[in-house]
Amino acid sequence: MRVRRLKRLLLLGPYVIFLAVMLLCIGLFIMICRQNERIEALEEEIDHLTMNQDSLIEKVSSIDSSVDELGSAVGAISNELSLIDISEYEGKGSRANVNTVWPTKVYLTFDDGPSPNTGKILDILNKYGVKGNFFVVGTDNPDLQKMYKRIVDEGHVLCMHSYSHKYNEIYSSVDAFTKDLNKLGSLLNEVTGITPRYYRFPGGSSNSVSSIPIEKFIKVLDERGMKYYDWNIVSGDATNPMLPADRIYENSLADLNEYEEAMILFHDLANKTSTVEALPRIIEAIQSRNIPICPIDDTTMMIQHYTKTN
Ligand SMILES: [Zn+2]
Repeated sequence: MRVRRLKRLLLLGPYVIFLAVMLLCIGLFIMICRQNERIEALEEEIDHLTMNQDSLIEKVSSIDSSVDELGSAVGAISNELSLIDISEYEGKGSRANVNTVWPTKVYLTFDDGPSPNTGKILDILNKYGVKGNFFVVGTDNPDLQKMYKRIVDEGHVLCMHSYSHKYNEIYSSVDAFTKDLNKLGSLLNEVTGITPRYYRFPGGSSNSVSSIPIEKFIKVLDERGMKYYDWNIVSGDATNPMLPADRIYENSLADLNEYEEAMILFHDLANKTSTVEALPRIIEAIQSRNIPICPIDDTTMMIQHYTKTN
């Protein structure tokens, strides 16, 4: 029996091995097929991603060209804007109500003269055909007194700024203020034949020097039918040492568009050389915007630091 079984096993052996090998091959074949499928799927995915990348690149380049187009459109608009002549809006009275782009009037005011610089400033103003406003102090120098007359004769506005310009004297009492005012008024009338009607308080109407309320001094002016003006633009020429002309130019123009009427504060003292140097460029810049440079008159806005409603 055992021998027969052994023979059967020996006969079946190769078949079993063959079957096992066949099964192994089939198994391997299935595994290879599956791996191929995966590779194909991955290849497809890579293709898809590549296509997406291409379309993204296309989109980015189209955005780039849109940005370029926008840039040139903005450039074209800027050009158009710079070509618009603001004189179209001049004198219509509505500009300041809607949106004050530039003032309707500019007043150039000069304090603390006369000095040898006053003559130079008058020459510049005359050259450009504009009128200035001179808030003068008192002097007994006959040469400087001639400047009072030049101011009036050449059509500029002679205004008062106290005779002594000494804060501690002028503001010590109403009586002292009045005497100082009368002294300057008499001198100017004697030299020029007119008595100025516009006044600027030394240090401005909001100065903190006077211990007496400023209303008391304003009352003195009111009684004489006089008006006082401060300023809303500071050229910066009061500093010591003097600012260079470039800075005075920049300061004078920097805030111009904030006011319906702009009153710029300058000084025509003897040492204010950079004011004289900056003035032609300042006038040219204002005139290039077609803004009138005006003498103060009774239609001028009340540009005051202190008002009764304060
Ligand atoms: Zn002054």
